[in-house]
Amino acid sequence: MIRVVTLDTVDPTDMAALIRTLYQAFGLGTEFAGEKPVPSEAEGKDGRLDAITLLREVEPVRTFADDKVLYIAGAPLSLPPGPLGEPPCWGFADYGKERAVITTAKLPARGVSEASIETYRRRLAREAIHAIGHLWDLHHCVDARCAMHPSWSQSLAANPDSDLCTFCREKSERKIRLAKT
Ligand SMILES: [Zn+2]
Ligand SMILES: [Zn+2]
Repeated sequence: MIRVVTLDTVDPTDMAALIRTLYQAFGLGTEFAGEKPVPSEAEGKDGRLDAITLLREVEPVRTFADDKVLYIAGAPLSLPPGPLGEPPCWGFADYGKERAVITTAKLPARGVSEASIETYRRRLAREAIHAIGHLWDLHHCVDARCAMHPSWSQSLAANPDSDLCTFCREKSERKIRLAKT
């Protein structure tokens, strides 16, 4: 089961579209599990949220074995700087574990036209699938059309698809099957 939790208001029609796409991507029951407050421990002075602290301190939702929980924040996220400086942060996942967070702050503006809402939803779905993919042990993928391709990559299309490539999809299906047995 995938449980989606908001830390900021998300349009209910966007949420419904996201739930549908996640269900199709992983073949797992997916539900909206409500809104939780942003943990104050994660709030940085620059208005960003520390992604690692957020996942540690955020209010849990009721889960069972192998459930995955995706939190959606409205504020930008930050990660500790690595040797090449601070990586641009679209989301962060406790690799192979239970919790991931993504932000809507870096998505294309939602706008009001059908086309712009569609673009927004597709990118939201892509980042959600990417983060949940990491929870199912998926690594980054070299295929720029795959949702597991790094979100910060130069070769990512301006309006990328949200699908997994065949390799990543089969790997996630194997992991999910193993978890069920
Ligand atoms: Zn990633
Ligand atoms: Zn892939």
